[in-house]
Amino acid sequence: PELPAVQVRSTFLDFFRQKHGHLLVPSSPVRPRGDPSLLFVNAGMNQFKPIFLGTADPRSPMASYRRVVNSQKCVRAGGKHNDLDDVGRDTYHHTFFEMLGTWSFGDYFKEEACRMAWSLLTEHYGISADRLYVSYFGGDAASGLQSDEETRHIWLDMGVPPGHLLPFGLKENFWEMGDSGPCGPCTEIHYDHVGGRDAAKLVNANSPDVVEIWNLVFMQYNREADLSLRRLPQFSVDTGMGLERLVSVLQGKRSTYDTDLFTPLLHALHQRSRVAPYGGRTGSEDQDRVDLAYRVVADHIRTLSVCIADGVHPGMSGAELVLRRILRRAVRFCMEVLQAPQGTLASLVPTVTHLLGDVYPELHREADQIVDVINENEAQFLLSLQQGSRLIQRTLCRKDYKHGVFPASVAWSLHRDLGFPLDLVDLMLEDRGVQVDRQELDRIIAENHKVMSSVTCPVSQVSSEQAGADLSVMLDVLSLAELQRLGVPHTD
Ligand code: ATP
Ligand code: MG
Ligand code: MG
Ligand code: MG
Repeated sequence: PELPAVQVRSTFLDFFRQKHGHLLVPSSPVRPRGDPSLLFVNAGMNQFKPIFLGTADPRSPMASYRRVVNSQKCVRAGGKHNDLDDVGRDTYHHTFFEMLGTWSFGDYFKEEACRMAWSLLTEHYGISADRLYVSYFGGDAASGLQSDEETRHIWLDMGVPPGHLLPFGLKENFWEMGDSGPCGPCTEIHYDHVGGRDAAKLVNANSPDVVEIWNLVFMQYNREADLSLRRLPQFSVDTGMGLERLVSVLQGKRSTYDTDLFTPLLHALHQRSRVAPYGGRTGSEDQDRVDLAYRVVADHIRTLSVCIADGVHPGMSGAELVLRRILRRAVRFCMEVLQAPQGTLASLVPTVTHLLGDVYPELHREADQIVDVINENEAQFLLSLQQGSRLIQRTLCRKDYKHGVFPASVAWSLHRDLGFPLDLVDLMLEDRGVQVDRQELDRIIAENHKVMSSVTCPVSQVSSEQAGADLSVMLDVLSLAELQRLGVPHTD
C-alpha cells in the first residue's frame, strides 16, 4: 500500500508541528516580496531571510519565530537556481516544486536537526537506511572554510556507516540563496532507488538512480555584495526536502512523473493528444521525444498555474518574461509533439487545482483567471507566428526582392514588432533557403541598441545565467516546417 502525496505532505508537517513543537507557517507567494535579488521564490527560506540577517521588524510575528515548518511553492527557472534546462530531460527536476522545510532560528542546531530528519525518514516513512547516503561539507581551502567534522561525527554516532558518508566541496555542500544572501555548509540526504550495491559513487553524479532528497543547511554566514562572507548574528538551521522526490521514493517510483502528483495530469493530457500514452522513457527515439513533451507540459502547466495565481503573468521582462517562455514552450510541445489542439493547456488547469488547490487555496480562487491568461497568451503566440510567416511570405513575393537575400528591415520588424528572437527569424528564413542581409541587419541592430535594451531585448533585463538558458527556451525556436505541423496557415 503506497502513501498518497497528500499524506506524505501532512505526515511531514505533523511530525515537526506536533511531535517537535514547530510552528506551521503558510507558503509565501512565488513572487518574491521586496527582494530584487530574486526572480522567483526558490526555497522555503526566502521569506525568512530577514530573520537570518537579524533585520526582522521586532513588531512582526516573524521576530518571535524559533521553530518553523512549512510547505513552500518554489520556482527554479531563473537566477542562481535555474533548472529549466533539465526539466523534461530528467525525471526529478521541476520548474515548480514543493519544498517541505523546517527551521530553527537560534534554537536547536546540527545534532537535533540531523536526528529529527533521520527519525522521520527511517522510522515514520519507513525508508530503509541502507538506501540512504549522506553528504557533508568537506571544506574549501581557497576560501578558508574548514571541513564540517562536527556533522560527520553526528552522523557516525547515529550509526550511518562511513561508506555512506561522503564529503563534498563548495558547489554541492555549501548552500547559497543567490549571488548574495544567507549561506552556510550543508549536509544532504540522498536516496538510492536501486539498492543491493555500493552506490556511493553515484551521489551528486547526476544519476537518476541516486537522487538528493533533503538538504539540511547550517546558516552561519551572509554572502555580501562584494562576495565576502560575514558571520550571522545567530546560527540557524534551514532544511528543505522536495516533496515530489520524497513521494517518488515512498511510492516506489524512479520518476516523480510516475507518482500521484503527476499521473492525473499526464492522463488528462493524453485524452487531448493524438499520440500514444505517456511511457516514461528518457532516450532519444521518437517515443522518447513524446515522453519528454509529456513531462515538459505536465511540469509547465503546474508552474503556469501557480505563478498566475500569485500574480506573475507572462510578460516582457524579469519573471514575467521567463513565464512567457515557459508558456510558449508548453504550447509548442503540446501542439507540435503531442498533437493536441489549441486550448489544451488551459484544459489541464482543473486537474492542477484538484491536485494542489487544497494546500494552496489561491489556485481554487484564481482558477478562472489562470484559464483566461493561458488562453489569451496562447492565442497571442499563435497569432504572432502566423503574422510572422505571412510577413516573410509577402516579402519573398515583393517585386524588389533580390533572390536569396532577405531584407534586414523586415527581419528587424519581425523582431521588434512581433517579438521574434532574431535566431528564430534566421531559422524561419533558413527553411525557405533564404538568408538575411547580415551586414545591414547588424547596422540596424547597432543603431537601435538603445531601443532594444529598453523595449525588445528583455534578455538584457534578466540575469546572465538565465540568458544562458535562452536558446533552448526559445519557443521561440520554431521552424517553418514546425509551423506547418502546428497547422498554422501562412497563405497570403
Ligand atoms: P539538485 O542537486 O538535485 O539540483 P539542489 O541541491 O539544487 O538539488 P537544494 O537547493 O539543496 O537542491 O534544495 C533542497 C531540496 O529541494 C533538494 O534536496 C531537492 O529534494 C529539492 N529540489 C531542488 N531542486 C528541485 C527541482 N528543480 N525540482 C524538484 N525538487 C527540487
Ligand atoms: Mg539544483
Ligand atoms: Mg544538489
Ligand atoms: Mg542541495
